[in-house]
Amino acid sequence: MSTESLRIVWIYPDLLSTYGDRGNALILQRRARQRGMPVEMLEVRSDQRLPASADIYLIGGGEDGPQALGAQRLLADGGLHRAVAQGSVVFGVCAGYQLLGTSFFAKGTKYPGLELLDISSDRGETRAVGELAGDIDPRLGIPPLSGFENHGGRTQLGPSVSPLARVTTGIGNDGATEGAWRGKLLGTYSHGPALARNPALADLLLRWATGVHQLPPLDDTWADRLRSERRAAVAAAARP
Ligand code: GLN
Repeated sequence: MSTESLRIVWIYPDLLSTYGDRGNALILQRRARQRGMPVEMLEVRSDQRLPASADIYLIGGGEDGPQALGAQRLLADGGLHRAVAQGSVVFGVCAGYQLLGTSFFAKGTKYPGLELLDISSDRGETRAVGELAGDIDPRLGIPPLSGFENHGGRTQLGPSVSPLARVTTGIGNDGATEGAWRGKLLGTYSHGPALARNPALADLLLRWATGVHQLPPLDDTWADRLRSERRAAVAAAARP
């Protein structure tokens, strides 16, 4: 951690905040505070400079236009690249995941991404909308992913990143894998918000940010209830 408190930045709430993904910031903040960690939460709009000294950066989903604009501004700003070079954690969801890669399509045009993750995105034939679930890379040691997806893009992974999960329900990157991670950078197509539906993923980001490998367990009754309710809904929908 860079300072006494855990610094979390929610990037561009004015552009990339359309799918409830701001809840990810709230979940991280709450889970850190419940363990006695002071948290400083910063919301940085797209007309402001991005501080490079925070511990965790969160980027949410967005429609094509705001996604392209957000990527252009992050490229011009350079703060996220400096933060990553210093070892900060980055968590991107959907549009925020795609723009971490080398390129993505928005409104039929190819845009350069931030090149922080070795991924590139094009468009699928159909929009992927619905439940998204998968078995997470065993090296991350966390239970299956549970989420909701809504995107037109499809994502190819290069050799220097690993898929976050193998898809069991939904599309994710391409119907087979979902999300990607490398070092302390992690992206997913999962809304929900993702960290409310996947508290173990929130704790993984907190462990990466703090270097504390054993975080005290929290009461996850409500998240567990939500996860099993969604699992049951997926199973019911799959029955003939
Ligand atoms: N605009 C992107 C797409 O449709 C991302 C959508 C999203 O963030 N939900 O693929």
